[in-house]
Amino acid sequence: MRPFTYERAADPVSASARVADNPGAKFIAGGTNLLDLMKLQIEAPQRLVDINDLPLNGVTELPDGGLRIGALVRNTDLAADRKVRERYPVLSRALLAGASPQLRNKATTGGNLMQRTRCYYFYDTSKPCNKRQPGSGCSALHGYNRIHAVLGQSERCIAVHPSDMAVAMRSLDARVETSGPDGTVRVIPIADFHRLPGNEPQKDTVLEPGELITAVELPPPPPGVQVYRKVRDRSSYDFALVSVAAIVDHADGKLKDVRVACGGLAHKPWRAETAERSARGRAAEAGTFSSVAEEVLKGAHGHGHNDFKIPLAQRVIRAVLAQAAGQTPEPTRDGSGS
Ligand code: SF4
Repeated sequence: MRPFTYERAADPVSASARVADNPGAKFIAGGTNLLDLMKLQIEAPQRLVDINDLPLNGVTELPDGGLRIGALVRNTDLAADRKVRERYPVLSRALLAGASPQLRNKATTGGNLMQRTRCYYFYDTSKPCNKRQPGSGCSALHGYNRIHAVLGQSERCIAVHPSDMAVAMRSLDARVETSGPDGTVRVIPIADFHRLPGNEPQKDTVLEPGELITAVELPPPPPGVQVYRKVRDRSSYDFALVSVAAIVDHADGKLKDVRVACGGLAHKPWRAETAERSARGRAAEAGTFSSVAEEVLKGAHGHGHNDFKIPLAQRVIRAVLAQAAGQTPEPTRDGSGS
C-alpha cells in the first residue's frame, strides 16, 4: 500500500471541498471495497477523507410517504429497518443477498452504490484493463468472461456493476442526493446515476470530482408485490450472475403495473421500461411473463463464456414475475424457478 494522508471531515461541504481540490483524494466510509483496491494498488489515493462523523446516518420519513436514507446507513441497519422491511421488502431482501454479514455491518448505502466491478482483470494489475488504465485494452473481451455483461456493453469494457442494493433501488425509482464542494445539492435519478461504459469505462457514475453522496430518497412504495431473486455460483456469498427485482400489481387476472430491474447483466442496473409498459393490461399469465423476459433481453449478446446468462435471465424474470403475481413455479437447480 502506498503512503497517504488521513483526515476526518466535519461537514459534507468541507469533505467535498477536500476531495475536489486534490485529484488523488478519496472519501472513505466503510472502506469494504476501497481498502481491497488500495492493497492491490488499483487505487492509490494520496489523501483519504473519512466521512464517518457526518450526520448522514438516519432513515427518516418524507412528507410524501417515501423514505430518506442517509448515505452512512450501514447495509445491515437498512435491511433491518422496520420501515424498509414493511414497505420496501425488495430492498431489504436485496441487501441481505449482498456480501457477508461482516461486510454488511461495515458497508454503507453510499459506498454500496460506489463499489467497483468485480471483473477478474480489473483486479489483476498484470493484465490490460481499460477501466483501471484507460487505453490499455479489455482482457475480458476475448478472455474468460463468464461473469460479464450481455447488455449495454462496449468494445472498451464488458464489466457488470456488482451491487444488489442498487438493483432494488432501480426498481423503486430511487433518487441519489449529492453535495458539491460549493454546497450545491444535486438530486440524480438512480436510472442516470450509473453509466454504461461507452468510450470511458473508467467512469462508473456521473458524479463530478468531490461530489459526495449524502442520501438516497425512495418515493412512496408502489402498489403490488415485491420480489428479489439472485442467482449465483455460491449461495453462501457471491456476486450475482443474474438478479431480478420485480414489482407486480395485478387485479382480476390482469397486470396493472410491472417493474423489472436486473443485476449481473450490464454496467448498471438494467431496467426495460418498454417491456413493462407493454405488459400493462395483459393477462397475468406465463405467456405475458415470457414476452416481458424476451423484451428485457432484446439486443443481448454474450461473449462465449457468458452466453448462458441470456436464457438464465429470461428464466429468472419469468419465475420472479410469476411469483410476484401469486403463481409459484417449481424451482429448478439454478434457483430460477422455471
Ligand atoms: Fe477492464 Fe472492463 Fe475489460 Fe474488465 S471488462 S478487463 S473491467 S475493461
